Amino acid sequence: MTPPGGLQAPPGGDAALRARAARVIPAGMWGHLDARRLPAGYPQFFSRAQGGHIWDADGRRYVDLMCSWGPIVLGHHDPVVDAAVAAQSALGDCLNGPAPVMVELCEALVDRVAHAGWAMLQKNGSDATTACVTIARAATGRNTVLIARGSYHGALPWCTPVPVGTTEADRANQLRFDYNDVASLEAAVTAAGHDLAAIIVTGFRHDNVVDQEMPSLAFAQAARRLCDRAGAALIIDDVRAGFRLHRGCSWELLGVDPDLSAWSKAIANGHPLAAVLGRDSFRSAAAKVFVTGSFWCGAVPMAAAVATLGEMDRIGLPERLAELGGYLRAGMARLAQRYAVGLRQSGPMSMPLWLFEDDADFARGSAFCRAALAAGAYLHPKHNMFLNAAHTRADMDAVLAAAEAGFQAIIAA
Ligand code: PMP
Repeated sequence: MTPPGGLQAPPGGDAALRARAARVIPAGMWGHLDARRLPAGYPQFFSRAQGGHIWDADGRRYVDLMCSWGPIVLGHHDPVVDAAVAAQSALGDCLNGPAPVMVELCEALVDRVAHAGWAMLQKNGSDATTACVTIARAATGRNTVLIARGSYHGALPWCTPVPVGTTEADRANQLRFDYNDVASLEAAVTAAGHDLAAIIVTGFRHDNVVDQEMPSLAFAQAARRLCDRAGAALIIDDVRAGFRLHRGCSWELLGVDPDLSAWSKAIANGHPLAAVLGRDSFRSAAAKVFVTGSFWCGAVPMAAAVATLGEMDRIGLPERLAELGGYLRAGMARLAQRYAVGLRQSGPMSMPLWLFEDDADFARGSAFCRAALAAGAYLHPKHNMFLNAAHTRADMDAVLAAAEAGFQAIIAA
């Protein structure tokens, strides 16, 4: 049937959507979400999701091990979060200013994160990392920020990994060090001299395409000591890892507290929200910087976050994810041994990265993921993956069955 106005009903399959997107979206998709960066066969468009599963625009169902690149932490359409969203939606979302739920959420964040004396809310992780750097500079009156080589802190001009269209000046006042390398951190601090405003470092090392590393105790303590000595801010970018590893800031596991921390992804189970948390000593600087956004007061994501934090505590999220991830990791190790394929599993249990030996061109990783995709598991060949609390042992078994197809594809190649 032709709809009113003579328009064709929009075709909904992935190929048709890609063809339409190519006409109205530069290159059909921007940034890291361009499916052409993934092995052939990966869908670009998704139609729906539930719990631990996602369906592509062609209706194929997968166990979802990307969890929307991190935000989905309780599971797609968690019923408690959905109910909180519905209740707040009925009251209002985009108002002339914040709804009461903003205060409730900031209280909840300050309560659970050890270093936090205050909270400010934004939308994206980049908003939060940028605000941390701005507050650190405002507090110290200095400029230089130390950033680990290869760490991702967002896609704004000061931190984008692809500097096309930006200027050198966008990245002025930055020095680099190597994650987990105390000597290189000390050298960067010395080079910054009296101008050191901050060291920014991710909750653990989760750079693309290299094995993940947990922060060493010596490194975390050195970062803290160097900032204290220089009167600079230690910033933890917990945008990706935050709350999956620990109930508070990821570095609480090491007994090291930052001055400022950036959060986003998992805090509202998929609803758009970010946060900066800070120590009281940075409160007055945080009050002075001018940060805002048209949608930063959105009440619905805040209600989602309050519900998400409550559910995380009720189910014991980090422990549950670690248990599930441990089961998956052990199963993967067994398969790798059975098929005699060199597999390196790295990172925390809840955020696995799988890289293969002798795979400089990612031919093995691609073959593995392509076969696993066809067998119903949505994996990533180069980026860390994510578990969520709606995943079950049966889902992990399904991933392992799909992975078996992946190992077979590697040895058949
Ligand atoms: N920091 C880290 C550690 C991240 O992983 C990301 C997103 N992948 C960001 C910052 C930026 O977050 P967003 O994409 O929401 O701006």
